[in-house]
Amino acid sequence: MSGLSDNEAKNLSVHGLKKHYGKVAAVDDISFDVAAGTLVTLLGPSGCGKTTTLRMIGGLVEPTAGRITIAGRDITTLPPWKRNCGFVFQSYALFPHMTVRDNIGYGLKLRGWENQRIREKIDEVAGFMDIAVLLDRLPRNLSGGQQQRSAVARAIAIEPDVLLMDEPLANLDAQLRDRIRDEIRRLQHELGVTIIYVTHDQAEAFSISDQVLVINAGRVVQKGNPQQIFARPASTFVASFVGVNNLLGGRVVTVEADEATIEWNGCRIRGHTDLRMAVGDRAIAVIGAQSFNLEGQGSNPAVHGSISGEISAVSFQGNHYRISLRTQNDAIVAELSKDLVEHSRLEPGSPIALAINNAFIIPEDRSDGKTPNLEDIR
Ligand code: ATP
Repeated sequence: MSGLSDNEAKNLSVHGLKKHYGKVAAVDDISFDVAAGTLVTLLGPSGCGKTTTLRMIGGLVEPTAGRITIAGRDITTLPPWKRNCGFVFQSYALFPHMTVRDNIGYGLKLRGWENQRIREKIDEVAGFMDIAVLLDRLPRNLSGGQQQRSAVARAIAIEPDVLLMDEPLANLDAQLRDRIRDEIRRLQHELGVTIIYVTHDQAEAFSISDQVLVINAGRVVQKGNPQQIFARPASTFVASFVGVNNLLGGRVVTVEADEATIEWNGCRIRGHTDLRMAVGDRAIAVIGAQSFNLEGQGSNPAVHGSISGEISAVSFQGNHYRISLRTQNDAIVAELSKDLVEHSRLEPGSPIALAINNAFIIPEDRSDGKTPNLEDIR
């Protein structure tokens, strides 16, 4: 497939983007750059401004302020059809009275392509999305997965500089979601297309993205690749939103280079940190459920600390167990291997001591509830 040429130049840049509806700041000063050919996800809770940002990039919503460029060209005030952005929506948004073929050809006709070239392009994208046998059907005679594949085919037919996808998997069942997600990844790699992807689902964001922008209340609160965001969240908001189970609050007792130690519940927990803090500050140890071992089994407890308590629940998860334990202050969730739990006969009511394999320390969020600014990150 011909795909996108001179891809190197097709990066997207958003600077100081704002959208106010009366007093509501739906988007409140968002800036980011997207390298050509990468998939960047806007991730955040309902109402944080993801869709509004996407629609401003596509030209469907007019910004209150800010600048959007593609390959250095300012597109902020251009109408949607002059931006060369493909759109894929949660609701598919196929024209109901048109066949799949006409849906795919629609944008090409608008752009003045000749009939022969349109026919060739329709065949090409239909083959690519595996919908060649569906071209003469109306959308109402397609399954959800087929409709979404047709919508993706329509979006890539115009050879977009940027593909904008708004929760494209939300209406599909779990199995189909995995398949279409893999297809989106494939088309990104094979066509080299730049994709901006919106979701509120952190697992989906982590599995599909090169880069993730976590958004809260109209602002970007963290940028990074999925591994960085999961292992080094910049705030308790990000940590909880991406599903880190244990956020343990205490006071900083030592800070050295990129490590800090806090005292929590009479124990010392040591971890990496990217954020400025001083001895005596309130801080949070962020510990994923996967970051524990049984004390004395494989990790050195002196490195990051250990936690003791009583097991309150044990639940089987297939290849591991999820252990809940009560401590004086907090409930802790740990995932331990099946063999370890069965061999050690861990049961509700048993005492347990867990060694911490990995912790990340962040300052406690300010009392105004705002997360730390990115500038505070060293
Ligand atoms: P969701 O995941 O629920 O779609 P979102 O993160 O995409 O949420 P947006 O749709 O961008 O959020 O909305 C951001 C904020 O702007 C919300 O508070 C929303 O109510 C508000 N908003 C969006 N569109 C309008 C509008 N046309 N008029 C007034 N307020 C709006």
